Amino acid sequence: MLDRKSYTLYKFHKQLNQSFQNKRSLLECALPALRNLFKLDRVYFFDWQQERALLSLKMMCKKEYCMDMQEDISVLNEPVFLRQLLQTGIAETTDLSYPALYVLVKWERPSVELKAGEIHSYMQERVGVLRLERFRKNRVFTNAEIDLIKDLGLEISHNLRNTEIDQAKNQRLRVSTALNDLSTIFASSLRLNDGLELILKGVQKYFRFDRVRLYLTDADGSKIKSVLGVDVSGKVTHQDGRALHEGEEKLLKEVFESSATYRSVRSVVYIPLKVQRNKVGFLTFDNLLSRRKIGYLDFISLQQFATQMALTIDNARLFERVQELSNYDELTKLPVRRYFNEKFAEELYRSKRFDLTLSLIIMDIDWFKQINDGYGHQIGDWALKEVSKVIRNSLRQTDVPCRFGGDEMIIMLPRTNGEEAKIIARRLQERIHAITLPDRYTDGEPVHLSISQGISSYPQDGLTPEVLLEKADKALYVVKQNGRGAWAVYREVAEQAEAAVESPAENSSKHPAETSEKSPADASSHPEK
Ligand code: GH3
Ligand code: MG
Repeated sequence: MLDRKSYTLYKFHKQLNQSFQNKRSLLECALPALRNLFKLDRVYFFDWQQERALLSLKMMCKKEYCMDMQEDISVLNEPVFLRQLLQTGIAETTDLSYPALYVLVKWERPSVELKAGEIHSYMQERVGVLRLERFRKNRVFTNAEIDLIKDLGLEISHNLRNTEIDQAKNQRLRVSTALNDLSTIFASSLRLNDGLELILKGVQKYFRFDRVRLYLTDADGSKIKSVLGVDVSGKVTHQDGRALHEGEEKLLKEVFESSATYRSVRSVVYIPLKVQRNKVGFLTFDNLLSRRKIGYLDFISLQQFATQMALTIDNARLFERVQELSNYDELTKLPVRRYFNEKFAEELYRSKRFDLTLSLIIMDIDWFKQINDGYGHQIGDWALKEVSKVIRNSLRQTDVPCRFGGDEMIIMLPRTNGEEAKIIARRLQERIHAITLPDRYTDGEPVHLSISQGISSYPQDGLTPEVLLEKADKALYVVKQNGRGAWAVYREVAEQAEAAVESPAENSSKHPAETSEKSPADASSHPEK
């Protein structure tokens, strides 16, 4: 036979032994049950806030109904009362004309202590406080009642914790599903920046943060290169790392030094993004405008998300770097044909759209085979590198040079007409002619490089990439036919038939073959060869 107390506990346990959606629905079941059991006039439930030693009123039940409440009650000013409540789990107020009893609701969870072998023990955690009121003065709580209330409190705390755990699990499941979806989208987006925007917007919207910002570092992780932000309205902002103010610059160091720690009062969190020891950047989430706290569970989810994000960013960067490398020719470090063709098509489209001019220069090194044959392939490579250096250093940022193949280079000059292209051709001719092969290979005699160039211009010479390339090539052919070391504009070549080559001699610059110095053409007569 169960005694009366055990029976009451058993009944209460059964009553609460169901899955509650949230804390509120649990309290709505537990508090009226207490009220009926002990013939209470009112019963209150407070959350115990450990770090602030604060009672935070959540619910009050009267005879007929329960009410949600939201009120913080500091017990710091009541040291005697508080000490008694914390020490004995019970405190009675004496200042009212009726009995009111506070009962500390504790949760006992199993824990393992490793001192002196393995001792299983229970840890007590303060969960909340019940306040039970009886309006009639003579109806004080008996010891037996107090004992029973303590046990029932334990039952409530277990159910509260279970409900919280269920809720947290559901929340985490939702969060991890959402973050997983976002990460999948991110991983499949082709361009890193598009993916980042998408995912930041998703996180901002999902967690309803006031602001989300992503600080990305440069290649060696020492400086912030760029900042991507999404604000409460979903607006995306891009900022150059160089435009950051000093405080923001210091953040990088601080975030990595302090690493991410959670403080429950915070409405802003910083989470470093790293892959092994590499600093990829960091994320900040804030509710500084709305002053909402960022919950611990959100923080944990964001940390997991950040790990995945760091890996994806790192991978994407690597991919971009590889792609970038594959856009450049290994020897000359000039863009390759594929890259050039893309840029050429884009630029030509722009020229048509905005009615702009554009010119092409095709350049070929003269007698290059003889340099290879006369001085060796290594010197040939060296010459190619030197020519490329001159090209790179002689152009504007918007010009696009390319190694078209072998000793042939091509240069696209946006917003440049034929006349302007000639000026550039002359400059290239002069600078490349100034390159002399290393004298230990040439017996101290200066051997100069020479180039021939053909020029075509949009719109006069053609409207498509193919036609413009063909015309520039034709002009180059005419130069080669007429002795090399010069440049020609297609239109002029076409107009003057084959006699339209402008030689540097005519343009007050000497043709290399006409100079007294040795030209590579003489390499075949080099004594050692
Ligand atoms: P031309 O004045 O008519 O242009 O005569 P050329 O000797 O320069 O003849 P052409 O342009 O047809 O020859 C290009 C040569 O460039 C052929 C090839 O052996 C050489 N070449 C192509 N790629 C490389 C390279 O990467 N390194 C070296 N050293 N030589 C290369
Ligand atoms: Mg050549």
